[in-house]
Amino acid sequence: MLTKNQTEILSRTRVKICGITRPQDAQVAAELGTDAIGLVFYQQSPRAVSIEQAQAIIDVLPPFITVVGLFVNAKPQFIQQILDKIPLDALQFHGEESPAECCRFNKPYIKALRMQPGVDIHAFIEDYASAQAILLDSYMKGVKGGTGATFDWQQVPPHLSKPIILAGGLTPENITEAVRILHPYAVDISGGVESAKGVKDAAKIAAFMKRVSISMPKKINYTNLPDDNGHFGQYGGIFVAETLIKPLEELKQAYEHYLKDSSFLAEFNDDLHHFVGRPSPLYHAVRWSKQLGGAQIYLKREDLNHTGAHKINNAIGQALLAKRMGKNRIIAETGAGQHGVAAATVAARFGMECVIYMGSEDIERQKINVYRMRLLGAEVRAVESGSKTLKDALNEAMRDWVTHIDNTFYIIGTVAGPHPYPAMVRDFQTVIGRETRQQIKVLAGCLPDALIACVGGGSNAIGLFYPFLDDKSITMYGVEAAGEGLDTGKHAAPLCTSQPGVLHGNRTYLMSDQDGQVLQTHSISAGLDYPGVGPEHAWLKDVGRVQYVAATDEEALKAFHDLTRTEGIIPALESSHALAYCKKVAPMLDKDKIIIVNLSGRGDKDIHTVAAYEGIEI
Ligand SMILES: *Cc1c(COP(=O)(O)O)cnc(C)c1O
Repeated sequence: MLTKNQTEILSRTRVKICGITRPQDAQVAAELGTDAIGLVFYQQSPRAVSIEQAQAIIDVLPPFITVVGLFVNAKPQFIQQILDKIPLDALQFHGEESPAECCRFNKPYIKALRMQPGVDIHAFIEDYASAQAILLDSYMKGVKGGTGATFDWQQVPPHLSKPIILAGGLTPENITEAVRILHPYAVDISGGVESAKGVKDAAKIAAFMKRVSISMPKKINYTNLPDDNGHFGQYGGIFVAETLIKPLEELKQAYEHYLKDSSFLAEFNDDLHHFVGRPSPLYHAVRWSKQLGGAQIYLKREDLNHTGAHKINNAIGQALLAKRMGKNRIIAETGAGQHGVAAATVAARFGMECVIYMGSEDIERQKINVYRMRLLGAEVRAVESGSKTLKDALNEAMRDWVTHIDNTFYIIGTVAGPHPYPAMVRDFQTVIGRETRQQIKVLAGCLPDALIACVGGGSNAIGLFYPFLDDKSITMYGVEAAGEGLDTGKHAAPLCTSQPGVLHGNRTYLMSDQDGQVLQTHSISAGLDYPGVGPEHAWLKDVGRVQYVAATDEEALKAFHDLTRTEGIIPALESSHALAYCKKVAPMLDKDKIIIVNLSGRGDKDIHTVAAYEGIEI
């Protein structure tokens, strides 16, 4: 028996070319590597073949190619008569045949399901338990047999208990996306590789076969991105005004140079140790693990860092880079103030001038953090434009950067922004995952089975995940903020609910309306309240390496209390989202399995929010 891991590496999507009517087409399909061909025995179809035609086609096929006969509500005698004359390997039923009618011929069979709105695939699979595979085709009123149209592939639930064959409107152009979304057992193509009805086209078959094979998951290298232009697949890149291209190029050169420079790295590590307090512990939450009754839970204690969260790792890295680049002025934008505090902290540490842009609405809401930044010597500039919140502060910071490029370094706080920020912030935050890897090997003698982290912009999550991405046995969960619920519109979960768009200088998943306007977000935790997400996460979602899920305000609050009471650790509300999802995963795993949760920050900053939410006056 293969492990799940092995099947993932080995399994490739098979190809069935259906509706072959000429021996020469069968030969070409075979030479180009098809796994199966389909012969249509449905008289109304333009691709129907007679027994003689079918025999001529089978005669030219090499061994090892499966021949499937396709029927639509045919009489049993008709099917039997064909089976008596020609050696079909399997039958495919495309009409309303009952399970009993499908199995009466003692042949392996495939049952087609039309994807009408509201179909229950699980129930269908249960009904046709005797089928070898289920073929999913699109539904068109009045059309029997293949329809030639596509359906919404996202509507197919994952992890079905039978092999799935995807059909319906496949072409060389759309096959890559189809395989990427569904990873089907096989794909079935007919019209998409024809030059005329029933006449297959060698060039189209070749293009199709090639695209299927390059869509295979086994080719993915998870740690060699972004490319030189900052792309993670179709995400990332540089979407900024012309004036910012040169400063970004200069930054990229410096970052690429200094991340290989041993004296820079020594200084960075020294500050992480003496100023931040690293390495942060990896803590076995024994009591909480017992309470949940499943896997052993370990917490990566980023809450114990100086300033109380992981953001300082990146702020130190960028400030040191600013110093090396000869820039003595730091600017940053902040929403809730946490990144502003981190930037103001490192500016004080290195004796740099510091300006923080903050929407005037946010300044009103976050008085304590504003005061903290001022104590640290930063100037907090109120932004009065637009909605007076984070995205307006961001525009203002960009404008400042362009006009003061000679002496100013712009510190971005998460794995967002234009290239090279997403890669650079990730690289500074991977200290989390690198430490964790060493620590768990010492503590448990093995690698973990699952990693869980909350995702706002995604910097603490990628910092933990990145050094483990190539360990395919590890399941990873990125937890977004579901706010009041994913279907209420009041959340901050772009990966779970939205489509790609452009925000903050990069292409990524983005909460926006039909006109591309960025939507209002909501989360009980200020640090997750962001309408976009780092482009690398967008890519990791699409290639299926990381599973993106969500936890509601209420679930996060419950987990906040659980950890506080059971372990004596008050977690940040952001981190509580990761803990909430851990509560779902842990009980499903055996006691010898290991889950590591990134405790991205401490919750002292959140106790007023918690009290207010619960109607308690302090
Ligand atoms: C800012 C913040 C986050 C969210 O940011 P990411 O870039 O997604 O990590 C999470 N946890 C804490 C404690 C934060 O301060």
